[in-house]
Amino acid sequence: MPGIAADPVTQLRGVGPKLATKLAEVGIHRVEDLLFHLPLRYQDRTRVTPIGATQDGVDVVIEGEVRVADIAFGRRRSLVVRLQDGTGTISLRFFHFSAAQKNNLKPGTRLRCFGQVRRGGSGLEMYHPEYRQVIEGEVETEDALTPVYPALGGIGQNQWRKLCAQAVTRLKHSSPQELLPTEHPLPYGLGEALVFLHTPPPDAPQESLREGNHPAQLRLAVEELVAHNLTLQGLRAQQQAAGSPQLHGNAQLLEQFLDSLPFSPTAAQQRVMQEITEDIAKPHPMLRLVQGDVGSGKTLVAAAAALQAIASGYQVAIMAPTEILAEQHRLNFMSWFSQLDINIAWLSGRIKGKKRVEALETISSGSAALVIGTHALFQADVMFERLGLVIVDEQHRFGVHQRLSLTEKSGPDVGRPHQLVMTATPIPRTLSMVAYADLDCSVIDELPPGRQPVETALIDNSRREQIVQRVANACAGGRQTYWVCTLVEESDVLQAQAAEATAAELAEALPELAVGLVHGRLKPTEKDLVMAAFKAGKIDLLVATTVIEVGVDVPNASLMIIENPERLGLAQLHQLRGRVGRGTAASHCVLLYQSPLSLNGKQRLQAMRASTDGFYIAEKDLELRGPGEVLGTRQTGLMEFRIAQLPTHNHLLEEVQDIAANIQANHPDLAEPLIHRWTGTSREFAKV
Ligand code: ADP
Ligand code: MG
Repeated sequence: MPGIAADPVTQLRGVGPKLATKLAEVGIHRVEDLLFHLPLRYQDRTRVTPIGATQDGVDVVIEGEVRVADIAFGRRRSLVVRLQDGTGTISLRFFHFSAAQKNNLKPGTRLRCFGQVRRGGSGLEMYHPEYRQVIEGEVETEDALTPVYPALGGIGQNQWRKLCAQAVTRLKHSSPQELLPTEHPLPYGLGEALVFLHTPPPDAPQESLREGNHPAQLRLAVEELVAHNLTLQGLRAQQQAAGSPQLHGNAQLLEQFLDSLPFSPTAAQQRVMQEITEDIAKPHPMLRLVQGDVGSGKTLVAAAAALQAIASGYQVAIMAPTEILAEQHRLNFMSWFSQLDINIAWLSGRIKGKKRVEALETISSGSAALVIGTHALFQADVMFERLGLVIVDEQHRFGVHQRLSLTEKSGPDVGRPHQLVMTATPIPRTLSMVAYADLDCSVIDELPPGRQPVETALIDNSRREQIVQRVANACAGGRQTYWVCTLVEESDVLQAQAAEATAAELAEALPELAVGLVHGRLKPTEKDLVMAAFKAGKIDLLVATTVIEVGVDVPNASLMIIENPERLGLAQLHQLRGRVGRGTAASHCVLLYQSPLSLNGKQRLQAMRASTDGFYIAEKDLELRGPGEVLGTRQTGLMEFRIAQLPTHNHLLEEVQDIAANIQANHPDLAEPLIHRWTGTSREFAKV
């Protein structure tokens, strides 16, 4: 039953071919599509707020009498109108205005304005409010909250409002089809929820709408998350349908390799290695995510998997998000596999010209069994001869599409390579249920024996001298220290300069210590020399940029100072801190912050002090920064929902999974229309 909602948008008033084209570009073809273009937030124009009762940063309607309207010649010429009601005075400020406009704002004129109130140095202000003249005693206001729509496709806010309002009127005659199975009772009907969210009544609970937990929002969020889950499941089914090489490995070789290490794998590592061994022996692709806290030993698990694939006669690609991490893997694997006859190719953005051609040749001819690199591995001209396994480290910085693009390069008749994804830091379970529903998950929930929990202190930079003294004492006692300089700028040059300056300052303050310096601008050989000296104990205090975030492993280093930690995300701080606490000595981390801290900054640092558990920290990160930041996938659109919000809607996820599973098992014909409804054609995600 198509109903009126299935009509093309061109049936609406004001939609000509030009606007229809614009709408089509953002995936809106039918009236029903407009209904799912949901407001981002609301403005309350249903009542007039007394000027004296307005709050900073809030959008309000005010009404008052013009006292004066004058041109102010400040830094920028502006028209300033003083408006007064019985309760207070506010300045309306216009940077763009006409002479006629000024003339119409004579003292005594009554205005009704809508805009955001700011509490500036000179009292209350409103910049460029919408306004109109009113007659004394006029009471008319809007009778519903005003929706604010995502301004997509170069279509203005007013136009979106008009379009959606027309769609809602039609909806009242014919509701879009319910696509969720009736076995799952939901608190709101679909049509009811849509009408409510497009036109909430004046008494709608604004707070709960703002927070995203109104039942109408929950109703739609469930449906959107189900659609999202089905998309990922579909992706998984599509992958799984492909054939893959069966990698049976060589148990004896694996055992030899593990025996050659100076330690034995933890029980958790063994369990995950076993899971992978079983997966890759199957004739369809493994899709597995390995999660584990910093230092839990994910690299070893990756190495074991790589060895199995290589022993089966296939190539392995290992991809890391940064040059340094990729290089760290290369050094690690070179040393671990030194007794085995394995040819390793290396590909990064810095490998160019003849070297690159040579590397590509060893990859495409199959002479390199193991290929390690960065994003450079995605490039179109990288082709493998027999790629059997793709290992992606720190998945959260790559998008789903990138991961999949690599699996297209496997080589003729090889089938789809197996995929192993390792996260750098744990991902909250709730988030991985949404973001990685297409992957099976393994958790390394155990650290190698003997690790010491790191104690963390928050210290104001005004007490820097005390901290310098503390470093002196620690080093005098034979311990080694990291001093990490952070800069917001991405620029290597600026980061290096900041670290150089700090190293010079510390060397002067602590003449008795050997101070070293490492940053991203050093040549790899120079970097290696410094790191080797630190490892050998010839450097007491290592000043570093965040390059040491990954891969550095010096058990005798047991003190870390992080400057301006408020500039970093929790995941990065957790990674950094993971560089200490690797030996038997009690370890400490000092977060040397710059006050004043923002509330969010304070909460983040307190979370660091409260816990060394990566899973806890990841949950906090999600709460404080949102899923886009935590996953690092904002650009890919993966987590751009229309109505669902994480972690606000975490509590819905169990039910979402149930519903999605039920649809797959019992109502498979509902999956496609649901996915279509919510992911539309414009969504990046739909292109997967
Ligand atoms: P992450 O999970 O953070 O990637 P790594 O793989 O870098 O951790 O491992 C951290 C350190 O622990 C490395 O020095 C590694 O050699 C060491 N390691 C890994 N597994 C074990 C183990 N079972 N016992 C002792 N040390 C281990
Ligand atoms: Mg790692």
